[in-house]
Amino acid sequence: MNATDTRAAKAQAVSGEVDFDAIGIGAGFAGIALIHYLREAGLSVRIFDRAAEVGGTWAWNCYPGAATDSESYYYCLAFSKEILQEWSWTKRYPGREETQKYLQFVADKCHMWPHIQLNTEIVEARYLEDRGIWQVTTATGEIFTCKYFISGMGMISEPLIPRIPGMERFKGPLFHSSRWPHEGLDYASKRVGIIGAGATTVQMVPVLAQTAASVTVFQRTPNYILPAMQRDMTPEWEREIKQNYEAIIAKCRNHVFGMAFDSPVGRNALDTPPKERQRIFEENWTGSFRWVFETFDDLLASPEANRMAADFIGAKMRERVRDPHVADLLTPTFDDYPLFAKRPPLDHGYLEAFNEEHVHLVDIKNDQPLVEITETGIRTTKGHYEFDIIVLATGFKAYTGALEAFPIRGEGGQTLAQKWKTLSECIMGVCTSGFPNMFMVTGPQAPFANLPTSIEQNVIWITRCITKMEREGLDLCRPRREAEEAWTAQTADIHRQTLMAEGYKVNSWMMGANREDKPPRVLIYFGGANFYYDALDASAQKGFPELSFEKRS
Ligand code: NAP
Repeated sequence: MNATDTRAAKAQAVSGEVDFDAIGIGAGFAGIALIHYLREAGLSVRIFDRAAEVGGTWAWNCYPGAATDSESYYYCLAFSKEILQEWSWTKRYPGREETQKYLQFVADKCHMWPHIQLNTEIVEARYLEDRGIWQVTTATGEIFTCKYFISGMGMISEPLIPRIPGMERFKGPLFHSSRWPHEGLDYASKRVGIIGAGATTVQMVPVLAQTAASVTVFQRTPNYILPAMQRDMTPEWEREIKQNYEAIIAKCRNHVFGMAFDSPVGRNALDTPPKERQRIFEENWTGSFRWVFETFDDLLASPEANRMAADFIGAKMRERVRDPHVADLLTPTFDDYPLFAKRPPLDHGYLEAFNEEHVHLVDIKNDQPLVEITETGIRTTKGHYEFDIIVLATGFKAYTGALEAFPIRGEGGQTLAQKWKTLSECIMGVCTSGFPNMFMVTGPQAPFANLPTSIEQNVIWITRCITKMEREGLDLCRPRREAEEAWTAQTADIHRQTLMAEGYKVNSWMMGANREDKPPRVLIYFGGANFYYDALDASAQKGFPELSFEKRS
């Protein structure tokens, strides 16, 4: 964006006292959705992103093998029927480039580029109490003001870098998985060490293993790994999708996980005779998270049913790994932790990769803990492993990380990091008390679900709130503390009743238990994404009782 564009966009602000009506950070799905909905509501909007491209997660995570774990045809925004019909996905799970191209296509098609400012890092956002507006400062010292400040920074975007002694000593490339060099990195014939064994590593290993001299994974906790079963989009499949898009989008809106899945409506594993249960498990072993959500209703609620699911997945995983010792190391059991206490990865050949001579697994939990990183590799208590490249696939400071990475100051100058020291309290993940006129897209205490569905539902709620304010000439909305306490209590209460609460035991990012700098906390609303979307709609219909509104003059 050049200076003329900036002035033109500034001139559009409704109030005239601010540079833009709304400023958002993050040019991924959230930023694109914000531009669409806020512009439709007549607001001027600017989205900043420090990346050089749109895409959010998909701009940053360019490690080999990066792909969506949601199926392509519902990993998209629903606001334009035309775009849903025009855009063609090539695969069941698109690679990151394809998802990024999709977002670029939407930005092109909807003429969004004048609203997007890339290569611009925001280093502070501050609520100016005397004026009732927000001010954001860029890394180069530029200042922009707005009435509404909105985070679209994503809930899994701020890398978690472990403190391993000697990290600065390693002579070769060493980086977090989400900072894989954009210009590419030649790993052919190189020895690659990966610390961490989560969803990222599961996607990365089969691709690296094709050409690397060796790939060694340092694993602490094994994961329940579900098969992806990738396949190409066919013309017949695409036709069927496009003829049924309205129903597909409605399915997402009405599903507990925001995905276009069918529900087993009341069929429970516990009430199903063993042979029949096995048949249903087998018949549904067709890839994606469908298996968890389309077989039985009680897999994530009943420990006995969860154990049955864990046993089934464990047996399937073992079938694919030749060495029984490696299979043991890779396969968790219910006694370790229940299915979904950690987010299960989808597999595109990870397990089979360990059948290859040059792919190794090191158990750093029970066998040989990490000691240090050296100039040439990684030392454990049992030996030294030489590498040319080391990847820290060590996860993220989920939900709060991006919001706390730079000061976002609300009333009294308090930052979100200060507010959320022990609890990350919010109202429906979209706003938090003490931060007037500030909104979050999929903030803490929102569900973990198909993200485009949740993002769009959040942006619709935010837009409805802003529209009310503009229509009624209101200057401020203040999230009410009592509404926040109620949502936080409800979220914690639901969480306690689920097996996901066991994630505390195994460092699950879903409750921040992977962080050393903060106590674990309830970060996710597990009451069902569909019921959460209902709660958002009800809030808007009732005139946003969770907020108090104010006219300043
Ligand atoms: P992750 O699931 O949090 O896994 C991090 C890994 O690093 C774990 O194996 C963890 O071990 C290990 N680790 C962390 N600190 C360590 C330390 N100090 N020493 C040794 N090991 C350490 O992270 P991720 O794989 O990047 O995935 C995070 C989330 O991002 C996923 O669950 C998913 O939601 C999202 N994601 C999505 C996609 C997709 O949809 N396509 C792809 C990739 C990621 P412990 O388990 O023992 O803590």
